[in-house]
Amino acid sequence: MGHCAIVGINWGDEGKGRMVDLLTKDYDVVVRYQGGGNAGHTVINEYGKFALHLLPSGIFRKGVVNILGNGVALDPENLWKEMQDVMKKGVELTPDNLKISDRASLLLPWHRDLDELEESRLKDKKYGSTKQGIAPFYSDKYQKKTLRLGELFYPETLKRHLAELLEWKNLTLTKVYGAEPYTMEQLEHWMEDYCEKIKPYIFDTSLFLRNAQNDGKKILFEAQLGSLRDLDYGIYPYTTSSNTTAAYAPIGSGLPGAVITDVIGVVKAYSTCVGEGPFVGELFGEEADALREAGFEYGAKTGRPRRVAPLDLVATRYGVEVQAATSIALTKLDVLSYMEKIPVCTHYLVDGKKTDRFPFPAALQQAQAVIEYLPGWKCDISKVRTWEELPKEAKDYVEFTEQAIGCHIGFVSVGPERDSIIYR
Ligand code: GDP
Repeated sequence: MGHCAIVGINWGDEGKGRMVDLLTKDYDVVVRYQGGGNAGHTVINEYGKFALHLLPSGIFRKGVVNILGNGVALDPENLWKEMQDVMKKGVELTPDNLKISDRASLLLPWHRDLDELEESRLKDKKYGSTKQGIAPFYSDKYQKKTLRLGELFYPETLKRHLAELLEWKNLTLTKVYGAEPYTMEQLEHWMEDYCEKIKPYIFDTSLFLRNAQNDGKKILFEAQLGSLRDLDYGIYPYTTSSNTTAAYAPIGSGLPGAVITDVIGVVKAYSTCVGEGPFVGELFGEEADALREAGFEYGAKTGRPRRVAPLDLVATRYGVEVQAATSIALTKLDVLSYMEKIPVCTHYLVDGKKTDRFPFPAALQQAQAVIEYLPGWKCDISKVRTWEELPKEAKDYVEFTEQAIGCHIGFVSVGPERDSIIYR
C-alpha cells in the first residue's frame, strides 16, 4: 500500500474520522490538508469520544506524526482549546507528534466576525455557514491578505504586515457592515494569547514530509467534508471554500509530488446534509425523524439537526468519480436495521427526463428523486464482524450500492467504535 487519502464522497459527516482513526495503525504520518475548525470528525476509542475539529484523527495513535498542512484554515484560538480538551483526556500532544505547517495561513478574529455579519446580511438567502470564518478566511488567503504561521518567527515583519491588514480590514468592517473596527492592541493580545502557545508546533512540514517520503514512511491524507462541498466540483455556492477532493491533498498537505495510490471514499448508508442548498430526495416528517434519531444525525460542531434522505446513488456515483476513489467505506449500515424496506434514490428526474448523471448545480432545485425499495433485514447487525455473517438482505444492499456507484466497497462499518468494521 502506498500513500492513501481518506475523503468524503457526499456532503460530509460520512464517518471519515472514524475511518482515519481505524486505518492509522498502518500509517506513519497523518495530514489534514484543507478546511478548518468547522469540521467535526467523531472518533470513539480507548481515550473516549471526541469530535475533532482541526486536529488530524491520527492523534490518538502512538508513534504517528500528525500534520496540519498549508491548505488548512489555521484558527489558533480553536486549535489551542481543542488541544487542551484532548490533552485533558490523557492524549499526549507534543511537537513530536503534532506539527503545523509554517506555510499555513492564520484565521484571524475578524474572519469569524465577517462570516457572522455576512450571514446576517443575507437573511433568508444565507449559505448556512457554521460561522467559523472559513469563507472570509479563504477569500483573504487568495487575495494574499492574511498572515502565515511562519511569520511568527519574524516579529518585525509580522507587526508591519498585521498593521497593513488591520487598516485594510477595518475599512470592510466599518464601511460595509457598520461594525466596530479592531485595534492593534486587541490583535497583539490575541496573538499573545493563542499564537505564542502554538508556536512550538510550527515547522517546515513540507521538508518533514519530503524526508518522510524518502525514508519510505506511509502517509495518510485526511479530508474534511465531501465531494459535494468541494469548491469547484460541489453544489456551488453551497460548498465550502476549499477543495475537499483527494487531488488537492498533495498541494494542501505540503507534498506536491505525493503519489496517492489508495483513495478511500467514505459513504454513509443513507444521505445526510447540514446547512442550506439543494438536497434531492430529502425526507420530512415522521420518516425523517425516525432516520435522524436512528442515526443520531446532529452536527458534531453545531448540534444542528442534519437533513436526511435515502442513499442518493446519483450523487454518490458522481462523488466517487470526482474523488477518483479506489475503494469505498460504507458506514452506518447498522442504522438502517429498523427499516422494513429501504428506500434508495437510483435516478433523478430533471426536466421530465430520467437520468443517472449528477446535473449542473442550478438544475438540482428542480430535480426529483426516483426511489426504489430494497428489502430490510430487521435485526441487529452491530456485532457482526465478517461479511459471511451479515444477513442476506444487508449483503444485497451493499452489493446493489457497489454496482450502482461503480466502486468496490472494501469496508462496511456497523457501529461507531473502532472495531465495528467488516473488511471485505
Ligand atoms: P466525519 O465528519 O465524516 O468524520 O463524520 P461525523 O463524525 O460528523 O459523523 C459520523 C457519525 O457517525 C459520528 O457520530 C460517528 O461516531 C458515527 N458513526 C461512524 N460510523 C458509524 C457506524 O458505522 N455506525 C454508527 N451507528 N455510527 C457511526
